[in-house]
Amino acid sequence: MRQANLTYIQEAFIDGGSLICPSCKESNLHQFNVTVFERGEDDSYTTVIAQNKHEVYASKFKSEDTCNPSSRRNGLLLEFMCEHCHESNMTAGWSTERPFLLGISQHKGDTLMQWFK
Ligand SMILES: [Zn+2]
Repeated sequence: MRQANLTYIQEAFIDGGSLICPSCKESNLHQFNVTVFERGEDDSYTTVIAQNKHEVYASKFKSEDTCNPSSRRNGLLLEFMCEHCHESNMTAGWSTERPFLLGISQHKGDTLMQWFK
């Protein structure tokens, strides 16, 4: 499970139905692990469901101790590696490079899609 703080990069863009890399602006992104944050509005606790390859973890944490991309409600984090930006790690199984994180979060009735590292 991802415990590190999120660093905002920029909002996410889609071009012709393809997600665009936040760094090189190419569309060759590969999806990896997914983390789900279940939180009612301003709940003190958040249920975190994290997938890491073929394993799944689910636990409840203090909301302030999670890296939920939503500050008050539900959120998702999806890991992506770019064929161009992470090229040096493709042959190593991309295991050593920190992926780009697509955060999907609910905020004041809107669904935000933002890139984080
Ligand atoms: Zn890229």
